[in-house]
Amino acid sequence: MIAQVEPLLTTRNVSGPFDYRLPESMNGVGVGSVLVVPFGRRRIVGVVVGMAEQSELPEGRLAEPVEALEAGVPPELVELGRWVGEEYCSTPARGLGLVLPPGIGTGADARRMRPLVELEVEATEEGLAATAGGGRLGLRQRAVLRALAAGPKLARQLAATAGSGRATLRRLEARGLIRSREVERRRRHNSPAVGAVRDGIELTGDQRRAVKAIASGGHRELLLHGVTGSGKTEIYLEAAREALDRGRGAIVLVPEIALTPQTMDRFRRRFGESVALLHSRMPAGARYDEWRRLRAGEARICVGPRSAVFAPVRDPGLIVIDEEHDSSYKQESDPRYDAREVARRRAAEAGAELLCGTATPRPESWHELQRLELPSRVDGRRLPPVEIVDMRGGVPGPLHERTREAFAEVSAAGGKAILLINRRGWSTHLTCRSCGHAWECPECDVSLILHRPAARRRSGAGADDAGHLRCHHCGFAEPKPESCPECSSVTIARIGAGTQRVEAELSELLAPLEIFRLDSDSAAGGRHADVLSRFERASTGVLVGTQMVAKGHDFPDVTLSVILDADGALRLPDFRSEERTFALITQLAGRSGRGEAAGRVLVQALAAGAPSIRHAARHDAAGFLAEELERRRALRYPPFSHLIEVALSSEDEERADSAAERMGELIVQRLGADQDLLGPAPLFRVRGRHRRRLLLKSEHRREAVEAVRESVAEAVGGRLLRDVAISVDVDPQ
Ligand code: ADP
Ligand code: ZN
Ligand code: ZN
Repeated sequence: MIAQVEPLLTTRNVSGPFDYRLPESMNGVGVGSVLVVPFGRRRIVGVVVGMAEQSELPEGRLAEPVEALEAGVPPELVELGRWVGEEYCSTPARGLGLVLPPGIGTGADARRMRPLVELEVEATEEGLAATAGGGRLGLRQRAVLRALAAGPKLARQLAATAGSGRATLRRLEARGLIRSREVERRRRHNSPAVGAVRDGIELTGDQRRAVKAIASGGHRELLLHGVTGSGKTEIYLEAAREALDRGRGAIVLVPEIALTPQTMDRFRRRFGESVALLHSRMPAGARYDEWRRLRAGEARICVGPRSAVFAPVRDPGLIVIDEEHDSSYKQESDPRYDAREVARRRAAEAGAELLCGTATPRPESWHELQRLELPSRVDGRRLPPVEIVDMRGGVPGPLHERTREAFAEVSAAGGKAILLINRRGWSTHLTCRSCGHAWECPECDVSLILHRPAARRRSGAGADDAGHLRCHHCGFAEPKPESCPECSSVTIARIGAGTQRVEAELSELLAPLEIFRLDSDSAAGGRHADVLSRFERASTGVLVGTQMVAKGHDFPDVTLSVILDADGALRLPDFRSEERTFALITQLAGRSGRGEAAGRVLVQALAAGAPSIRHAARHDAAGFLAEELERRRALRYPPFSHLIEVALSSEDEERADSAAERMGELIVQRLGADQDLLGPAPLFRVRGRHRRRLLLKSEHRREAVEAVRESVAEAVGGRLLRDVAISVDVDPQ
């Protein structure tokens, strides 16, 4: 037999598949097998993407694989991986990389993950008889056989309980009194969930209707539009149960695991061992074993972030995308896939139902999916009233008087509040008051952000002035300046506020109330869950942070939500900024008033009249989406067209320019000049690299993707891209 092998190389200029002749000894190899193959002078890892009786190559030129590593990526995932490679203008190898079991190295000598195998021992009939009959047995031997009377045990356990070493076991086995075999032990990251308890929740009428509408069994694409607190998770749980009852599996995608531990816990409590978790914060061994549990069908449900869309769940009947508006579903490195689109593809291929849930649907989903509505919160509580606080006319400091009063009320009542400000650090930029000098990153065209040391230490004398300027794009850092390098003036203005400064203001305003800060600085190394659970356990306090604080958390005792600079995103030239602003405000509002006490929301903004802000203040998603879709139709933006972004960068500005020009020509050659190709336009410099961008807008996705893919291939093949990096983003966010 011939195996068609796609080599797992990261370069763009090699693409297979290549034929290899399988020796007899490898007759278990099939589509989805992972092999080590000779490739030129090297040995590399490859995936079998097809099988054939014969090759077009002459017999003498066919090589044999060196080794078979893994028997099994399911064939449908091999197809899905190749599709991702094509659809996102990446390479087959990079697409396939997404569907491999965790820990498969791509170099032949890379350390590989292996199952953890242990020796299991069991007494034979004779062995059991020997203990009873008091045959000639040593003390240790007798202890082992007694321990085995209750059933098989691991050799490791016997060593601990019966004090028996391997020598004892060998002697017993030689006498035919025990049998041993190797078993695979699954490594677990999380302690097993406690039993399969039900939460004891009665579904509401709305929830029941939704579940009924979902559980039809065929392939459909559904949008579950449910206001915040309408009990969407309960519906996912029921829908997953239905899928299991039909003998099928389920995939549940959640935004970021660290920010959504609650959803995961609920699945584990409900389904126990039938659930597998796959996420990057797990140790590699546990991840590998969870993957194997799914592939073996031991676990039928997978919960995880975007990469879980590639989980080897058998025969998925349901794919849920929780918080479908969340930006983390898009991968921001090559292949830049959108897990929502991949899920759609996978659901269609598998005949599964796709269920996208959110309080703030994307215009794309609103336009394209079949809608199910959950118009009210589970307990009939009202959504909190939203007040817009107009910041025009100048307000000293980041907090408006009304906002300060609202916080003071919460503090006096011993309640809880959440504040969102979508910038981390202390201030957003520094300028010299005398000469106007602005501090910028030497490698990137952006201002440096002031970061102060941890707030707890602020009280110490002198500590007040310490701090660093940091670049949020490249990590460059330098000590906070004492004076201006241009004019030596010591009056330096810190403009704008970030999470640190707001944290400090609130500490002062509300002391001794505890302030919890949640941003990627305070939660470095995945400690988000820590901060969140400390806030949850506290009886009173304020959670301050970046958009992480708005992500689906369910804290019943929060009564005030505040967002600062709510229209910050609207000042950026991005056609999605209205959509983002609407989602951010609505999601944040959704954190308030989920318990007994009524909630309240304050939105500080300069552009108080912007459509996204107006509609969010009225909790009017339908109104917002209708207007937004009209605007997009008029401007021919998605979902009425498809966008493909080609970014080129080089340390040499001229190279970046000419490569971008040439790339544009190649695309136009293929598509014709009547296409909407914008640019090349400059993007700001990052890490010393000059960047240029081309944006293709097209109604014909297939042709556009193909034209770009071919143009990139031609450019890579020619010498056009010397010292120029290229990246393609289909459906850029
Ligand atoms: P959403 O995801 O729609 O914002 P959740 O699924 O987090 O809402 O549910 C909000 C809260 O309501 C959770 O604490 C959940 O346990 C509770 N809940 C959901 N359904 C019911 C129900 N039918 N009866 C009582 N409580 C419910
Ligand atoms: Zn100066
Ligand atoms: Zn920088």
